[in-house]
Amino acid sequence: MDDAVKTYWKQKCETCAEAFRKNNFEVYLAGNLEAAEKLIKEKIDPAVNPHVVSWGDSKTLLATGVLDFYRKKEGVEFIEINGDGMSWDEQIEQRRKALQADLFFTGTNAVTEDGLLVNLDMIGNRTGAITFGPKHVVLLIGRNKICSDLDTAMERVKHYAAPVNAIRFNLATPCVGTSECDDCSSDDRICNVWTITEKSFPAGRIKIILINQDLGF
Ligand code: SF4
Repeated sequence: MDDAVKTYWKQKCETCAEAFRKNNFEVYLAGNLEAAEKLIKEKIDPAVNPHVVSWGDSKTLLATGVLDFYRKKEGVEFIEINGDGMSWDEQIEQRRKALQADLFFTGTNAVTEDGLLVNLDMIGNRTGAITFGPKHVVLLIGRNKICSDLDTAMERVKHYAAPVNAIRFNLATPCVGTSECDDCSSDDRICNVWTITEKSFPAGRIKIILINQDLGF
């Protein structure tokens, strides 16, 4: 049974990978999170050789040791984006700096089988970095983010990923109490910036690691 599920998703990941390659993304396939982390350390890191590294929020990324790897790596300036004692203004300033990193790590809210990235952001630092700024962007993407088309992806993001993320941060938004999107006007609204990335420009700037495992929201 488990093998059948794994095989189903392996094939879905391969189809998706092919579509992303046609759209000029650099694509890697990984059987699990550990394999994805190994790929970053052994393949992407030596190829990019980054001096400045930062990141945008991603549950999948946070489940790896990638950020600590770069925090400790000699010759790397790691730009923190939050943490104890960092005021909101400082966090925003750090996120502005992160847009000039050599290498930026994050996740994505959804992908489509024909090779689009679909994201919805509160601040826009994550969608901003995917779009422009960092020289290289690496996205760690669990198989559960694969959607059949753009409508399904946007539905997934707005009616599943966004409320779950609002619940995760215990925000003062209606969806935290109902699990339904109320298209709110709350100050805490996390649904402010949509991006649909059709192709990587320049080719290969955005590196996608499709992981055959359910990860993140
Ligand atoms: S628009 Fe508001 S209610 Fe809807 S998912 Fe986003 S934060 Fe929640």
